[in-house]
Amino acid sequence: MTHQHVPQNLPKRIQHFIDGEFVDSVDGATFDVLEPVSNQNYLEAAAGKQADVDRAVAAARRAFDEGPWPRMLPRERARVLNRIADIVETRNERLAEWETFDSGLPITQALGQAKRAAENFRFFADLIVAQSDDVYQVPGKQVNYVHRKPKGVAGLITPWNTPFMLESWKLAPALASGCTVVLKPAEFTPLSASLWPEIFREAGVPDGVFNLVHGIGEEAGDALVKHEDVQLISFTGESATGKLIFANAAPTLKALSMELGGKSPAVVFADADLDAAIDSTVFGVFSLNGERCTAGSRILVERPIYDEFVRRYVERAKNVKVGDPRDPATEVGALVHPEHHEKVVSYIEIGKTEATLAAGGGRPKGLETGNYVEPTVFIDVPPTARIFQEEIFGPVVAITPFDTEEEALRLANDVKYGLAAYVWTSNLERAHTFGQRIEAGMVWLNSHNVRDLRTPFGGVKASGLGHEGGYRSLDFYSDQQAMHITLAPVHTPKFGA
Ligand code: NAD
Repeated sequence: MTHQHVPQNLPKRIQHFIDGEFVDSVDGATFDVLEPVSNQNYLEAAAGKQADVDRAVAAARRAFDEGPWPRMLPRERARVLNRIADIVETRNERLAEWETFDSGLPITQALGQAKRAAENFRFFADLIVAQSDDVYQVPGKQVNYVHRKPKGVAGLITPWNTPFMLESWKLAPALASGCTVVLKPAEFTPLSASLWPEIFREAGVPDGVFNLVHGIGEEAGDALVKHEDVQLISFTGESATGKLIFANAAPTLKALSMELGGKSPAVVFADADLDAAIDSTVFGVFSLNGERCTAGSRILVERPIYDEFVRRYVERAKNVKVGDPRDPATEVGALVHPEHHEKVVSYIEIGKTEATLAAGGGRPKGLETGNYVEPTVFIDVPPTARIFQEEIFGPVVAITPFDTEEEALRLANDVKYGLAAYVWTSNLERAHTFGQRIEAGMVWLNSHNVRDLRTPFGGVKASGLGHEGGYRSLDFYSDQQAMHITLAPVHTPKFGA
């Protein structure tokens, strides 16, 4: 490991955080964590198993049943959430440095993450204070109202792409709703999650409300999913893992929210603003190293502009700067882990047999070690190709021409996923009518992914289950109890009278 590369203040080992205390695993087990530039181990993390999850869930249960958190007024919880947001923002530089080091995310793209994480806490603080629930009146007979209460102990399982930010997506609405939580971060990138305990402590979150168990998915994650005393699982990760969790949660009938994989289309019509479409579709698949659930990884281009689009796109892709994630000039850094690197490279090899390689396709020159991949463009990709159908989760894009709107729609929808879609056209009517027919949870017209936190977030088909975002997240983390009040004598059949 090159030593100037290692951030200062980096821990050598990280522990679980249970009931307000840092603890090792009950059996003392740990796992090694590597960083993706040198692929050297630099950190030992406590490896949680059933016994550790049991401890964390018991602490969360106690805090839920006996502690103040679920019973606090929304304003009181909101104050704590706002303090969390303020503290998160003060960690911006350290977070960016750690995230870049641990995950290979380019530093310029890591630098915004703390702000976005803080915004999640502010947003849900506002929402719980402003929230109102329904009342139904039956004049003279009945009043019914909705009594909202937190669901209980929330199990939060998160992936390794933008780990801290994605953890905040779940932590903020879960805590805002009054749930207590057990977070199981991704084992590839557990470093930044170790910032949460001190942030929550400083903000005044009571002991036991936030618990953190590190570990392997099949051990710590699995124990959380199967735990009798966990009321819900919010999961973000691969569709295959989502299916397994769905089955494993069945015996305990948990509430599930799943944000899964994607293979999102960007559809570019001939009347599109081509400059804007190229900027956006290049960014859409190469930002965050292409390790992005909503990446526009299939670009469908109308035939009259296909050649020009491809020529300009390829030129840009060849110019994208791959390099050390810490270098502010870097646009694509190192992929998170050698296993993932191998997966992405194997898809590139498959692509070479299925379509025409127009840019990239290998290891960038001068970067002989580390998990680097050239930004890779395949053109004339048939819809039957695996690189058209399967999520690669790296800087690899498939470009395919189309002749008619119906063909574009068929191509857009002809995959098992349905997370996001991007439509480029200057025809207002078509933008809406075409966009609405795409099987995707989220559609952007003439834009890449820019999201208002109030809008629904989630996918359809293999991309997810349920939608979070705004009040939908609060609904997921709370129960809405129907209270019925009788205002007049009720007609009661007199059985046995
Ligand atoms: P993954 O499914 O391998 O792992 C995600 C998390 O699940 C990790 O914490 C892992 O330890 C845990 N896990 C693994 N097996 C488990 C099991 N049997 N029981 C319980 N937990 C288990 O996903 P990943 O490789 O970390 O992340 C990349 C994937 O996440 C991609 O498919 C990407 O599209 C998806 N993703 C989706 C969204 C979205 O919002 N839709 C956002 C980001 C990432």
